[in-house]
Amino acid sequence: MSGAMVRMIDVPAMAAWIAEHGVETLIERLVSRLRDDFLRWEDFDKTARVASHSERGVIELMPVSDGRRYTFKYVNGHPDNPRAGLQTVTAFGVLADVATGYPVLIAEMTLLTALRTAATSALAASVLARPDSRVLALIGTGSQAEFQALAFRRVLGIERLRVWDTDPAAMDKFERNARALGFDVVRAGSAAEAVAGADIVTTCTADKALATVLTDDLVTAGMHLNAIGGDCPGKTELDPAILRRAAVFAEYLPQSRIEGEIQHLEDDFPAVELWQVLSASAPGRTAPEQVTVFDSVGFAVEDFSALCLLADEFDGAEATVDLVADPRDPKDLFSLIAAAGTER
Ligand code: NAD
Repeated sequence: MSGAMVRMIDVPAMAAWIAEHGVETLIERLVSRLRDDFLRWEDFDKTARVASHSERGVIELMPVSDGRRYTFKYVNGHPDNPRAGLQTVTAFGVLADVATGYPVLIAEMTLLTALRTAATSALAASVLARPDSRVLALIGTGSQAEFQALAFRRVLGIERLRVWDTDPAAMDKFERNARALGFDVVRAGSAAEAVAGADIVTTCTADKALATVLTDDLVTAGMHLNAIGGDCPGKTELDPAILRRAAVFAEYLPQSRIEGEIQHLEDDFPAVELWQVLSASAPGRTAPEQVTVFDSVGFAVEDFSALCLLADEFDGAEATVDLVADPRDPKDLFSLIAAAGTER
């Protein structure tokens, strides 16, 4: 062995682990970790993610550290990918030991991102939505949708779904999966029909555009909007008029003002970070008729929580990979080449 071994959790190992424990159980465990990490917000060395934009999408790096562990996620967003049979969002991530700088775990994060995004959405809704919320509308029934539905069921007890997607095949897929999971699903003919009577609306569409998936007239008193699909400059989902009359919450404002729905508004538009509500240092919903918006873009601390869950609790079939060159004499890196030569 010439290097330090790094734990590796690939897609089959991740999928098997999630299937074994159940999506809802793992989301619940993630919600608990997210809450703990959001409550120690000041411990984190935070930075807005680093984005590389192209005509067709974006590739982003999301680093964060709590001084003991460092994590980063590589993630892309390419809304046209499904037309070529590819995922819109894929990801992998690394967890490293801050004391040595050595990576200790590398993991697939496409599935893990769906779990952590759904867990974050439900955590936010647990403090922002009306406690008597019963009906969830899902606008966009692609990859994230089932995870969102399961998170809202586990955390808020929601069983009734109203769904809309511009792609009928995506709705067929969702209906099939959601009914098998025991949900009561109403398939709508438009976004307006889907949100009518909903208490919570999740928008999780993918389009590299300033779309208006929801117009102001569709948003009724007391609704909570969980806006997760607008997460890039030039890629949003809500009519800005909604934001102007709502109470708006975000993850990390230096990033959300660039990427979130609030990118359209003035730099000092009043929005509150979710950790402030969780720690009771800022109010969440203040009245049943208030409209609340969680303007989610996805933040590195959420991936940190998810990777720490893996590092501490993963009990599936993982592999190890000899990823870090680590000669016996730390100054003799060259010896590894010499040794490889003699082995040949
Ligand atoms: P996906 O491509 O699998 O699904 C998106 C769905 O939206 C598709 O089925 C598409 O037909 C539908 N759609 C597009 N425009 C629509 C419209 N105007 N009305 C109704 N439906 C519409 O993508 P996904 O992996 O499910 O991700 C959804 C979105 O969420 C993406 O924009 C992604 O970038 C974002 N996302 C955000 C976070 C976060 O933390 N906030 C995390 C993951 C993904």
